[in-house]
Order: sequence, then C-alpha cells, then structure tokens
Amino acid sequence: MRYSGLQVLAQGLMGNRGWKPVWRDPEPKPAYDIVIIGGGGHGLATAFYLAKEHGLGNIAVLEKGYLGGGNVGRNTTIVRANYNLPGNSEFYSHSLKLWEGLEADLNYNVMHSQRGVINLFHSDGQRDAYARRGNAMINQGDDAILLDREGCRRMLPYLDYDQTRFPIYGGLYHPRGGTARHDAVAWGYARAADRRGVDLIQQCEVTGIDIAGGKVTGVQTTRGAIRAAKVAIVVAGRSGQVAAMAGLRLPVESHILQAFVTEGLKPCIDHVVTYGMGHFYISQSDKGGLVFGGDLDFYASYAARGNLPMAEHVMEAGLTLMPMIGKARVLRSWGGIMDMTPDGSPIIDKTHVDGLYIDCGWCYGGFKAVPGSGFSFAHLIATDRHHEPAARFRLDRFRRGVLLDEEGTGSQHNLH
Ligand SMILES: Cc1cc2nc3c(=O)[nH]c(=O)nc-3n(C[C@H](O)[C@H](O)[C@H](O)COP(=O)(O)OP(=O)(O)OC[C@H]3O[C@@H](n4cnc5c(N)ncnc54)[C@H](O)[C@@H]3O)c2cc1C
Repeated sequence: MRYSGLQVLAQGLMGNRGWKPVWRDPEPKPAYDIVIIGGGGHGLATAFYLAKEHGLGNIAVLEKGYLGGGNVGRNTTIVRANYNLPGNSEFYSHSLKLWEGLEADLNYNVMHSQRGVINLFHSDGQRDAYARRGNAMINQGDDAILLDREGCRRMLPYLDYDQTRFPIYGGLYHPRGGTARHDAVAWGYARAADRRGVDLIQQCEVTGIDIAGGKVTGVQTTRGAIRAAKVAIVVAGRSGQVAAMAGLRLPVESHILQAFVTEGLKPCIDHVVTYGMGHFYISQSDKGGLVFGGDLDFYASYAARGNLPMAEHVMEAGLTLMPMIGKARVLRSWGGIMDMTPDGSPIIDKTHVDGLYIDCGWCYGGFKAVPGSGFSFAHLIATDRHHEPAARFRLDRFRRGVLLDEEGTGSQHNLH
C-alpha cells in the first residue's frame, strides 16, 4: 500500500479499518545471499539501499529484539552536517542530502524538521574554532552562519545572557540541521526494505558466525542456522561482542548515554541548541516535550539505563544556560549503549574474514548518519569497494595511527 493524502482520506472514510501491517513477519529461510545482523537504523538502511541501489533481493535482517528497540529509538533525534575534518565532512554532507529526500524515497513521514542547529560559544578561542568549522562546512557546500551575541539574543531570547561564569559570546548557526522522529526512521526504512523483498526477522539473536577456510558461510541464531554468502555486522552497542564471534577484537568500548524529556509545553524552543561549556543540548519535540541530554555516564557498560549523578549534572548544566527550564517537570529518562571508538569516528569496512563486513563505532552521533551509513555500507557490501564519502572510515586506521579525531580530545573512548 502506497501512503498518500488521498489514502489517509479514503481510510478515514472507511473507519481506518483498511490499513495493512507495515511489514511482513516471515520465517527465516535456510540461506540468503546477504545476512545483516542488527535491525537498528543502520542495519535497516543498509538493507534498503542494497535493494534499491544495487537491485539485490535475497537479503535478511536479523534482529534479536524488535525493530527500533535499540539506539535508533532512544536518541535525541538531531540531524546535522557540521563537521570539520576531511573524511567526516563529506560523509555527513552526503548523509544530510539523503535526509532531505528521505520521505519521498521511503514514502514515509519521518518528520524531518530543518529547524536549525545553533552551537553556542563562550570564549575567543571557541569562536575561532567555530569560525574555522563554519568555513569548512561552507567549503563542503553546506550552510553555516556565525552569530554574534546579539544575533543569538534575537534568535534565542530565553538564554541567560547575564551569567558571568560562561558568558555567551555567540553561536554557529547551521540552518539545514534539525531533527527527525527517530522511530519513524526505523519504521520507514523497515517498510521500504520489506516492500523491496527484504526479510525482516525479529526475535532472532545471532549467537555465532560460521567461518570455513577464512570465508564466512553463515550464522547461528536462536531460530536455527542460516547460511549466507555475505554477513554484515551492524549492532551498535553490541559490536564488540558480535565481532568477537568471528575472532575480531574491535577498538570499541560500549558506554551509556542518557536522555531526558519533560512534560509537553507550548512551543518555546524553535531550534536545536548546544551549550559550548557544559555538555548539554536541547530541542523541543512536536508533542511539546523538551528533549535534552549531555555527557556519557563515563564508565563502560552494557546496561541501557544510566545513573543519577549524570542526570544531576545534565540538569545543572541546562539550568545555567536557560534557567526557565527549571519550571518544567521531567517526565522520563532512558539510556542507550554507545559504541565508542578511540577517535570518535566510525568504522565501515571489510574484516579479515572474506565476506564479513562491519559498520560500527558511531559513538553518540549515529542517528544523523543512518542514511549515509546505510548507503555507503550497502555500496561496500555490494561492490567490495569503499564508497568515496566513507572511504576514510577504515578499521586499520587505529593500527596505522591515522586517526579521525573531530573533537581533538585524543585517543580515549569516553571523551568523544
Ligand atoms: C540518549 C542518546 C541520544 C542520542 N542522540 C543522538 C542525536 O541526537 N543525533 C545522532 O546523530 N545520534 C544520536 N545518538 C546515537 C545514535 O542513536 C546511534 O549512534 C545509532 O542509533 C546507532 O545505530 P543503530 O540505529 O543501528 O543502533 P541500534 O538501534 O542500537 O541497532 C543495533 C541493533 O542490533 C541488535 N543486535 C545486537 N546484538 C545482536 C545480535 N547478536 N543478533 C541480532 N541483533 C542484535 C540490537 O538489538 C539493535 O536493535 C544518541 C544515542 C543515545 C543513546
């Protein structure tokens, strides 16, 4: 069924009884050409682009829980292309262009809202760094505007401009940045991949990877063995564990990142705003909730929930920037497991096993990367050649010492 305004009208007139399930629920087949482990945003997008761009059909996505139950449904939904370094810059630029055509591509409303991202700066040094970043964005063909303090005050009148500890000097405004509804992105890709014949198999955990003579031959799962000519690992926070099934030790640590949402309020925050001095960022959802977050919890863990000290730290940072949010009541908080690399940049590469591919290390920025990552990973799997915008996301860069350290914080997983 194709979605359209006319369809909504017709279904409404028929009491909304004609809607079909959004994807099938197939039994796993004994063999596929390509098996994708992980039904998060990246896995689903990879399946979709394998089918759409490369005409491949015999594909399964194996998900141990339910589609969208991982980080793709737990993030704070920020979409942007405001990177500085060659390697990251062209990749996120490509990803943002895919976002801009995504709803038409998927025939699904993912509520992509280009409301603008403003990164605040609070010192001369930070202004220089943001000016340099803005120039890199413009050179890449994206948009960036350097705002002074008065420019910020006009757009963000609710911030505390009188605080003396971290005075607001200005901000880097990225008008094409914004947000999208996270689980709609998972559902949209799932539906579009299913329509192109991809089998989406939920409640199917991969427990082993079969290798013979240096080549992958399939996977072991909780629903039986499945043969495959190619296997792709796209499991975000579980990357280290699943890669270990193939004897691979990844340069990845898993850390918790929390997020928070308040009760619904009237529209008051029009953009995505990030605080340059405390790790705090905020936007307002279409339902009215203020959605915000901060730093990692600072210790490695596989628990998808965080602890109170970081909750307190994030609230404190938020209150110093915009004291008005002290009046809002926090409705709920949650955590996700982030696959952190030592340089903060991702990995899209082949492995030492023939036919085994890996896409991981998205740290806490992998939601905006979903279309770009799916596109580039599908290209690699289908053609065995790296897609140019993602060509620097190599696994061996950690051995070669050629890091892609966007933050410049050095080789430590929890600092990116
Ligand atoms: C609180 C929070 C805020 C964030 N905010 C942003 C943001 O604003 N912008 C942004 O760009 N990024 C953000 N991120 C990061 C982003 O959500 C992740 O980088 C991205 O979603 C990870 O990729 P994914 O969607 O494929 O992961 P997931 O959705 O986690 O998908 C991986 C899937 O693999 C499955 N899996 C694991 N092991 C197995 C197995 N053995 N067999 C089968 N399946 C398996 C899991 O169940 C899971 O569904 C945030 C993350 C969190 C937690």
